[in-house]
Amino acid sequence: MAVVHVVGAGLAGLAAAIRLSERRQPVALYEAAQQAGGRCRSYFDRTLGRVIDNGNHLLLSGNRSAIAYLAAIGAGDSLLGPAEASYPFLDLSSGERWVVRPNRGRIPLWIALPSRRVPGTRLSDCLGVWRLARAGPDRTVADCLNRASPLWRRFWEPLARAVLNTPPEQGSARLLWAALGESFARGGSGCRPLIARHSLAASLIDPALARLGERGVRVAFGHRLRAVLRRDGRVRSLDFGERQVELGAEDRLILALPPGQTGALLPEIPVPGASHAIVNAHFSLAQPVRLPGGGPLLGLIGGTAEWLFLRDELVSLTVSAADALADEPSEAIAARLWADTARALNLPAQPQPPARIVKERRATFAQTPGALVRRPGATTAWPNLFLAGDWTATGLPATIEGAVRSGQRAADLVAGRPGKGR
Ligand SMILES: Cc1cc2nc3c(=O)[nH]c(=O)nc-3n(C[C@H](O)[C@H](O)[C@H](O)COP(=O)(O)OP(=O)(O)OC[C@H]3O[C@@H](n4cnc5c(N)ncnc54)[C@H](O)[C@@H]3O)c2cc1C
Repeated sequence: MAVVHVVGAGLAGLAAAIRLSERRQPVALYEAAQQAGGRCRSYFDRTLGRVIDNGNHLLLSGNRSAIAYLAAIGAGDSLLGPAEASYPFLDLSSGERWVVRPNRGRIPLWIALPSRRVPGTRLSDCLGVWRLARAGPDRTVADCLNRASPLWRRFWEPLARAVLNTPPEQGSARLLWAALGESFARGGSGCRPLIARHSLAASLIDPALARLGERGVRVAFGHRLRAVLRRDGRVRSLDFGERQVELGAEDRLILALPPGQTGALLPEIPVPGASHAIVNAHFSLAQPVRLPGGGPLLGLIGGTAEWLFLRDELVSLTVSAADALADEPSEAIAARLWADTARALNLPAQPQPPARIVKERRATFAQTPGALVRRPGATTAWPNLFLAGDWTATGLPATIEGAVRSGQRAADLVAGRPGKGR
């Protein structure tokens, strides 16, 4: 039987391999690193003496492809979040706290209720969201929303920065709306915030590897693809340096690599060029703390970080579009982010607990209007070559949901069942 070769064991590659193996399709999975997960991974950190994630990852209850993937790998119950959609915020400059609480149904009654929306905002500020919904492909988030409104600083700015990992003055309005359309626009049932209960690996990666193993698929780690050899309009072989893999006449290839790697291997294919960093800080507290309301996250306004996540005694902060910050020494970043944390959690400013700063310099592509036209679809000019990855033309921002959906879609196309992955 024909083999589908999947290169890249990030979420896109894993999602593709899971879907193919569900259909008893023989799969060969290759990964350059010694572990799976790519930009969504966990590892043991000696300084903190525990497993940490490379960065906080937030899922929303409306992320249907990611939720279906979790169910498919038997990890459907491995996420944690409040029973109802709620987003607590703290303005570090004024000390003011509030909770944004969308109601469950699709009709956004909550924006009419001052107690459920951002303080100091009017109903008319909230209705500005329709300008996002109607935005043309060349519009940025800042083009569509009123930057003078308190809603900008207290909601849209941190939300858009987190979703697009791009400053909202440059980020694509259309992409932000695509994400909101599948979550907030569906009401509270679509935008419940969810995080991995223990670690990213425990939820999203290890169960997938176990499920693949049960089906006879093992990842060939340490396999960095160096060239894709094409002849007579088809991919013929894969060059992994010390190992060459010949493709049979019916074999297929799914490349699930980051954009830079794909562009280097296949220069004919346009890929988004620029990227942005995400900086994460992890602090190991002496004892567990709880956020007011008991949820796992807190939006921070007026500090360095935009979001604070809590898992027992591990507090983790995220700074998106953090290219300038990533150039600073880790000690300086830790001091700055601990100052925000201590204020947010009412903890002593000194001593600073053990910290780990993780700088992901190419966390996602720069999600600007200009980059949208450089996102290729899953099919290519070579009939046995398919593309996956969060940066391909999913119609969504570069997120877990986009990565998983791209892998599922590539798998469906390989199996001749287009459309099932969408
Ligand atoms: C710090 C951080 C925070 C994030 N926060 C969120 C969040 O809150 N919510 C959310 O939804 N998303 C978030 N994301 C985005 C999310 O992690 C990505 O969209 C997703 O993991 C991308 O998966 P992928 O499979 O497309 O790519 P990758 O994860 O990049 O997978 C590609 C794989 O290919 C391998 N590879 C590369 N080159 C080669 C080669 N030549 N040969 C073989 N293998 C190769 C890599 O090692 C990697 O394993 C965040 C990302 C980061 C970095």
